[in-house]
Amino acid sequence: MQTLYSRRGTGMLSKHPRERLIQQLRTQGISNPDVLEVMRTTPRHLFVDEALSSHAYANHALPIGYGQTISQPYIVARMTEALLSQGYLEKVLEVGTGCGYQTAVLAQLLDKVYSVERIKNLSEKASKRLKLFGLDNVQLCHSDGHWGWAEHAPYQGIIVTASPKNVPEALLDQLALGGCLIIPVGPRGGQVLLKIIRTRTHYEQYTLEHVSFVPLREGLS
Ligand code: SAH
Repeated sequence: MQTLYSRRGTGMLSKHPRERLIQQLRTQGISNPDVLEVMRTTPRHLFVDEALSSHAYANHALPIGYGQTISQPYIVARMTEALLSQGYLEKVLEVGTGCGYQTAVLAQLLDKVYSVERIKNLSEKASKRLKLFGLDNVQLCHSDGHWGWAEHAPYQGIIVTASPKNVPEALLDQLALGGCLIIPVGPRGGQVLLKIIRTRTHYEQYTLEHVSFVPLREGLS
């Protein structure tokens, strides 16, 4: 595992807010040391507007423009940990690139990350940011994630960072045998985070916890 600290130096802010955040994540039950280390070293303040950078290591979501948010660090850690609990994952698809923070976390832990985003400006900004960090194992696409990304399927893992009403069929189809889909489902105020495993005969579904994500929208913007 090569973290952004080891690639790019320590970043600009004091380490204390980051250490405090990692302590909070531990208290909230995140225990995978690789996930905690990557969350500690990834400069979240560089994924939000400069005006918000002093809030970047608080454990909550922040606006990233276009009515969208960068997910709460706890949720990023929780989803990443749930995904990694399935063992080695060669290829992972993320739906909802947003500012690219979750993408950057995944890219430091996995061999290859594909990520789709329906808002062109967000996708382009994320692409520049991830290139700047030297994360060259990421491929982004401006597309509607309801369709997944068939060209690179099947995926051992799929992570969805916006909430549909129901699990999109294409994502189930593009999951490899034994693969794991982490997805919030349901309307605002009634969403649950699901972990779905594809077996030879069926899909096993586990409810992880109640969550609050922006909606997964149809079409491009
Ligand atoms: N992964 C981000 C979370 C971004 S919020 C992070 O690290 O914080 C969710 C993102 O999903 C938004 O950017 C939103 O535009 C995007 N989104 C919503 N519906 C989508 C769809 N159908 N296809 C792809 N992206 C979608």
